[in-house]
Amino acid sequence: MPQRCRWSRVCHFPTGFDKSRLLRCLVLFVTIWGIDQTYWKNSAAAQDVGRRPNIVFVFSDDHALQAIGAYGSKINQTPHLDRLASQGLVFDRSYCANSICGPSRACILTGLHSHLNGFRRNGDRFDGSQWVFPRVLQEHGYQTALIGKWHLESNPTGFDYWQVLPDQGHYYNPDFIMMDGTKQRVPGYCTDLITDASLKWLDQRDPSKPFLLMCQHKAPHRNWSPHPRHFGKYKLGTVPAPETLRDDYSGRSKTLAESEMTLRKHFYWGHDAKFHGPNEFPDHFRDGIPNGEYQRMSPEQRDEWDAYYQPENEAFLQRLRAGELSEDDVLTWKHQRYMHDYLGSVQAVDDSVGRVLDYLDANNLMENTIVVYSSDQGFYLGEHGWYDKRWMFEESLRMPLIVRWPGRIPAGSRSNAMVQNIDYAPTFLQAAGIEVPAQVQGRSLLPVFEAQGAVPAGWRDAIYYAYYENDSVHEVAVHDGVRTDRYKLMFFQRTNEWNLFDLEHDPQEMNSVHDDPQYQAILKGLQQRYRDLRKFYQVNSAVIPVTRGDEAWWKQRDREKTAQGKQQAHELVFIGDSITQGWEGAGKAMWDKYFAHAPALNLGFSGDRTEHVLWRLKRGQMGISKPRAAVIMIGTNNTGHRMQAPEETAAGVREIITNVRQHSPDTKIVLLGVFPRGETPFDPMRLNNVAINQYLSTFADDETVFYRDLSGIFLQEDGTLSRDIMPDLLHLNEAGYQRWAEALVPILQELEVYPNAPTP
Ligand code: CA
Repeated sequence: MPQRCRWSRVCHFPTGFDKSRLLRCLVLFVTIWGIDQTYWKNSAAAQDVGRRPNIVFVFSDDHALQAIGAYGSKINQTPHLDRLASQGLVFDRSYCANSICGPSRACILTGLHSHLNGFRRNGDRFDGSQWVFPRVLQEHGYQTALIGKWHLESNPTGFDYWQVLPDQGHYYNPDFIMMDGTKQRVPGYCTDLITDASLKWLDQRDPSKPFLLMCQHKAPHRNWSPHPRHFGKYKLGTVPAPETLRDDYSGRSKTLAESEMTLRKHFYWGHDAKFHGPNEFPDHFRDGIPNGEYQRMSPEQRDEWDAYYQPENEAFLQRLRAGELSEDDVLTWKHQRYMHDYLGSVQAVDDSVGRVLDYLDANNLMENTIVVYSSDQGFYLGEHGWYDKRWMFEESLRMPLIVRWPGRIPAGSRSNAMVQNIDYAPTFLQAAGIEVPAQVQGRSLLPVFEAQGAVPAGWRDAIYYAYYENDSVHEVAVHDGVRTDRYKLMFFQRTNEWNLFDLEHDPQEMNSVHDDPQYQAILKGLQQRYRDLRKFYQVNSAVIPVTRGDEAWWKQRDREKTAQGKQQAHELVFIGDSITQGWEGAGKAMWDKYFAHAPALNLGFSGDRTEHVLWRLKRGQMGISKPRAAVIMIGTNNTGHRMQAPEETAAGVREIITNVRQHSPDTKIVLLGVFPRGETPFDPMRLNNVAINQYLSTFADDETVFYRDLSGIFLQEDGTLSRDIMPDLLHLNEAGYQRWAEALVPILQELEVYPNAPTP
């Protein structure tokens, strides 16, 4: 025991008792004991640093694999990323779970698919109180830092240090939100500034602890604005165009042609093409978004920018004014301008990777640091005529993923294992020796590392993908699907279409074979796999709020009803689908007679399923109303559109009830059983609704939720439905609405929620 040795040496008393000497002796003892403790602590920390790896996560935004040398780029050079790849492992089948900025980040932080982490679309707000892997590392003694693009609306949690770009951030003279809430504008180029701040944090960190650094670039996100040092590196006319630049979208879902992300029709005059002033050629270029980066530049930066861009712009515009260029020539020019700017922006990211690797080398951190390079999704570099991402097609489904971990991963490895961004969190935890909680949906990649990239036994056979951001910029429809090693199955909700691609015969995904007789067994098998994977990942579309705002009439009605809800407080609110909306059609006379004066609000939307009602309620459609009663009847479209499992639909109805109660806790909920449909009691859809109702009946507590099954008023004695009241065996005519009204009014009276009810 070292303390004791020192004690005996220091406190050797001569004869006689000296109080002050004893005191000095005690002080000395305490001091030496303290130094000793620090010594032991530090040496334990030193061992800890040696044992637990540091993690440097360099993450860019929208960096396509087609623009990385290590992935076989034919259009640019990325020497530093290639160096990282040559020292580590390159994943060739790395995919995102939802191909869009914020959602990809949320998947990475939580290890969960979007529907469970709650961040399904840009504009959602990330709940930072949920489980995120940086906080777990922090709790286990890691220092954690996040620098750069965040895009999750709420403040980062789980980090000792953070500084983030507001929203998308800017390339030139960007603002940063600091931990104290202040916003600072920093002169310079964003990619370089994020790298500077990352290296500064590394310099200032406590070297006794392992660390996690997330260095997250804005680049090469739109509007692709390179640093002057990269002007002209990929000159106009030098970048080969992809084979599918002139895709006409035939042979696949009709929603492809409806999206708005083509170079041909949706390339902006200022924002994308980098022209100044008013749009001279509205047939070729879109108006409305100027080049915001140019507006932020200093006079010197503008001079440098204009010195490069203006001569090229003038030369092109002169030819266009002179009528020398066809629409196709313009398309070619747009692609070239796009590639100059995009690849130039990538080049600074590659420079950043080089600086980070050099720093680790120079500071003796190379050996015990895992370096990961990834980007939130892939991107279209003109493939299918597009820029942007979102679609489940390969170019935006794939994510770059390169991992270097000396001693654990052999240099120059490649892997064909199917991996996803939900796998990052468990990988980092396991690498740090921390147990991964069962709720995490991703899988640790350590078995792939140990197998030197080979696909481990029992690895996943397929990935699940889902995109939710319809009715938004670029107008890409909601879709989800499954990818296996050879096939891809996609489902488009709005149009109820399946697309199937054989990636071996059609790697560019130009022709869906879902209706090819030769592929029927494969289609059925993959549909089964799709359903099973959705169950495995707990995907129940009935509880996932989704808008139908990409249908014009729906969007219009949504606006009107939301306005109505804000204008007046209603005493009764009816929530449902076309059968409820029908109070404004076949049921109008009955509505006017029985409910209009309540006053009552009709929130029925034809064709809605539970998930659409959820979207509307979550967006505040009930407005200022805290009604006495809410009459809910919903679910028959969950049956009719896709025979959804009754328990799934019922879970959607339960969510609707929860939402109404959150909005207005005192409202009595009159939960009606889904009306019968189909002619006979054994109609499969009738039976599905009966099964839904069995669940709904259990939701009643007879205090706030009252369940009533009105089937009896519509059915004949033998259980058949009469066309006299339901001409199409689903929707009521006026006689049907009369029966419904006359049955409902007494219920509302009995519950004492309709004091001014008329007498039937
Ligand atoms: Ca992105």
